[in-house]
Amino acid sequence: MDIKKIYMDSDALLEGHFKLSSGNHSQFYLQSAKVLENPKTAKFLADALAREIKKSGLQVDAVCAPALGGLIAGFALATALDVRSIFAERVDGKMSIRRGFEIKKGERVLMCEDVITTGGSAMEAAEAIKSLGGEIVGVAALANRGFCKRENSNVTTKSNCKLPQDIPFFALADFTFEMYTPDACPLCKEGSEAIKPGSREN
Ligand code: ZN
Repeated sequence: MDIKKIYMDSDALLEGHFKLSSGNHSQFYLQSAKVLENPKTAKFLADALAREIKKSGLQVDAVCAPALGGLIAGFALATALDVRSIFAERVDGKMSIRRGFEIKKGERVLMCEDVITTGGSAMEAAEAIKSLGGEIVGVAALANRGFCKRENSNVTTKSNCKLPQDIPFFALADFTFEMYTPDACPLCKEGSEAIKPGSREN
């Protein structure tokens, strides 16, 4: 499957000068919401991801996505795996499980994001699940930004990857773009201003 083509065809692979949630700058940005606005595409991608997860033999009781970015991917993946779909959300800056969602002790939870960059949000949400007695058995995403090693890929884990190394990470493809700290950003040096994706025209 050519997931890069799917992102490009959906105008979801943006080129410009972007400020990422980590504070770093990048010339590219993946706007997964543009891919997932087509429910058939969302289902197609989630089905492919679910096939890889099932093939690995991983047992999953529930999928948990960090809101807002992971919601649609999480729901679609839970549908494909035929398991419960829940989400974590930020309350006063802290990822929390709300809305009456319950986690059984030892329940096997797969964290799901649209895109994993360093995995920071997914791991924050995972802490909330663990504090309620759940067990994190894996991480899944439609796309991998190339800082973490996913199953069946040669991309190696970089020092900024926050995913634990003892559970599998499933994704459909690696998108490896350069990322810069603001003071080392060549786009800033050229005089342009980094914009936050999702704001303004994005
Ligand atoms: Zn910059």
